[in-house]
Amino acid sequence: MSADPEAALAREARRLLEAEASAGFDDSSTPGGISRWVASEGRNTRALTRLSQYSRLRPRTREDLARAVLADLGTAAPAPSRGRDADASVTALPGVGAAAEKRLAALGIQTVSDLLHHRPRRYIDHSSVVAIAEAEPGREVTVIGEVVEIRARPARSGRVRVVEAAIADETGQILAVWFNQVYLVKTLRGRRNVAFAGRVESAAYDRQLTSPEYELDVHRMVHAGRLVPVYPLTRGLSQRQLRRWMSLAVDDYAASVPETLGAQQRRTHGLPDVATAIRNLHFPVDSAARDAAARRFAFAELLVYQLAILRRRQTWRESQPGRPVQIHRDALAAFGGQLPFKLTDGQRVAVAEVLTDLRRERPMSRLLQGDVGSGKTVVAAGALHAIVGDGWQGAIMAPTEVLAEQHTATLRELLAPLGVRVELVTGSVPAADKRRIWRDVERGGVNVVVGTQAIIQRSARFDRLNLAVVDEQHRFGVQQRGEIRAKGYNPHLLAMSATPIPRTLALTVYGDLDISVLRELPQGRRPVETSFVPNHRRGDAYTFIRREVAAGRQAFIVFPIIDESESLNARAATEEHKRLTRGAFADLAEEVGLLHGRLSGAAKDRVMRAFRDGQIKILVSTSVIEVGIDVPNATVMLIEGAERFGLAQLHQLRGRVGRGDHPSHCLLMSETTDPRENARLRTLQTVRDGFTLAERDLELRGPGDVLGTRQSGALGFRFASVTDLPTIQSARIDAEQLMSADPGLNRPEHAGLAAAVERLLQRNEWN
Ligand code: ADP
Ligand code: MG
Repeated sequence: MSADPEAALAREARRLLEAEASAGFDDSSTPGGISRWVASEGRNTRALTRLSQYSRLRPRTREDLARAVLADLGTAAPAPSRGRDADASVTALPGVGAAAEKRLAALGIQTVSDLLHHRPRRYIDHSSVVAIAEAEPGREVTVIGEVVEIRARPARSGRVRVVEAAIADETGQILAVWFNQVYLVKTLRGRRNVAFAGRVESAAYDRQLTSPEYELDVHRMVHAGRLVPVYPLTRGLSQRQLRRWMSLAVDDYAASVPETLGAQQRRTHGLPDVATAIRNLHFPVDSAARDAAARRFAFAELLVYQLAILRRRQTWRESQPGRPVQIHRDALAAFGGQLPFKLTDGQRVAVAEVLTDLRRERPMSRLLQGDVGSGKTVVAAGALHAIVGDGWQGAIMAPTEVLAEQHTATLRELLAPLGVRVELVTGSVPAADKRRIWRDVERGGVNVVVGTQAIIQRSARFDRLNLAVVDEQHRFGVQQRGEIRAKGYNPHLLAMSATPIPRTLALTVYGDLDISVLRELPQGRRPVETSFVPNHRRGDAYTFIRREVAAGRQAFIVFPIIDESESLNARAATEEHKRLTRGAFADLAEEVGLLHGRLSGAAKDRVMRAFRDGQIKILVSTSVIEVGIDVPNATVMLIEGAERFGLAQLHQLRGRVGRGDHPSHCLLMSETTDPRENARLRTLQTVRDGFTLAERDLELRGPGDVLGTRQSGALGFRFASVTDLPTIQSARIDAEQLMSADPGLNRPEHAGLAAAVERLLQRNEWN
């Protein structure tokens, strides 16, 4: 017996088809039928693919198909096209010229391999092939028959031309109708054995298929008689065209797409090989096969992603040694000793983790996560103090000027008594001062520089920079995180974020960072009393705000995100501000401020300062205030249209109050009457942990909300889901094993994988 499994399969197919021939093509040659056999073989040679719909055909059509396949099998083994290059341009496909090449490029498709990875948006189920007599109105069917009559005529009304065809098989006849596709008369006239797929309707005298898909080659069902792929298109490209090219590409190139998963690995995870997966992605034998294909691509994507993360971390560790910091014990004690409070347990652990990293030869790469108000700044201060104690400089980067000012004040309070010089450099600092400060930075006279992004963008020169802190890091792209490091100093990096990232996401998005978490808030912090205010009680909410303002407190009124477009949001908040200053708060109009994303950075900072300093009592704002500003005198947060926010985001918003000695309140207003939606919002009344809320969001609303669309989009997954923890974890485990067995991915069997990882690393976001 031949060892070639393909030959063995061909022999088996021939045996079955010959049995079919002698039994009259009644699909009795194998228990369950030929189609089932094809599916269970789980392999996709050309012959098998052609036979996949066999059981659904009627005996006449089966006979034609069986004879055609037998003829094929008789002539040598169907040569699977190895040795072709899937990286060839799409123009290598017959029928794809320069014009088509351009259109495909608009879809990001340049090579045949790109085309093969173009994911169908959905599938139409035309797999039910029935006899015409059985085509019941209301069903999606495929019928196969002869075009006994076809003609074009003007429609009774208007200029439309109607093409009408009578389709017949030996059980009956059905009408097919198209509009304005007169060329079909020529294409279809006198044809036998054509498949038509669509929904059956009852017309005046007959059953009718309106604008059905048709397929001339019933032995190679592409447009009918199967699960038919529907692709994302672009101008000038039709589904039929794309499907035809795809079918050619699948036949001729699927076998030459490099395999990225090992045979053993595929077995372990129950995943098909790449050629099979590609076939079943586009022209699936059945929906189970299609789903298995999608699972395979998702796993492969995550594996490549994890490998890229591990690879980047490894390269970075090897090529750029950090400078270890000597930590002086008495200095540490001095820092702890002069704090106005006791560190929380979480803070103590985080400081210890950071200091351990700082002592190492390789630069720290750590993310500090903690709810708003959990005291991340103190941890950063501890780290800055430690490095300054060993003669290094530090920098801290914040997303807004006001936040940078706040950090400067905090750090001076904590560190100045210990002889640490902290300087602020932002757009608002006079140029002469800035020049002086930078000169001192360059000479080493300044220990810690606080600023906005500007401190990495300008040609900042430090004397001995060895720690960069990035605050509210989710506000910065992955790119900027790299930029600060790329300044050439290769300092230790501490990123801080109040966005609680569930573990699933952390593994993917921050897979290259070590993570510290502050789980609890400092002692004695009063929880923000959160209540749910029905719409008709809005007046009461305003009365409540007035009372607080009269008592000397301040309030936020946050306007909902109404749209992705920041300008629409800005307009809505502006309207609201106008309404309030003319209505409910007319007497306080002078003290009602407005903040939104369309203001310039300087204007935003001006408003935030006025609020911080108490000139503004009520701040009407879009959700831009989510970013870490600390105003202890603010005690009320009214959130309009709360149903539009994720829970974690609402939680971050309410964290803006409750920082002082007075009890604080968060009032949630919601437009919706949907009880499920209201129940979701009510969880905020009892749940006070940002991580729990983020997990809930991830379940209810998906990753975009938790992560911000910018970052989740940047992952660029086509198949994988960032909420699919089991797959992410198994991909992570496999990636770690691969990296320890073959760190350079140099083994021949890892060539496909190595190339895929390399491609991902080349993409811009990764540099
Ligand atoms: P965030 O994590 O949101 O950046 P901050 O670092 O701004 O939080 O800290 C919030 C407030 O809590 C600050 O006023 C800070 O002084 C105070 N704080 C931090 N740690 C403690 C602690 N262990 N005990 C009491 N107050 C603390
Ligand atoms: Mg902060």
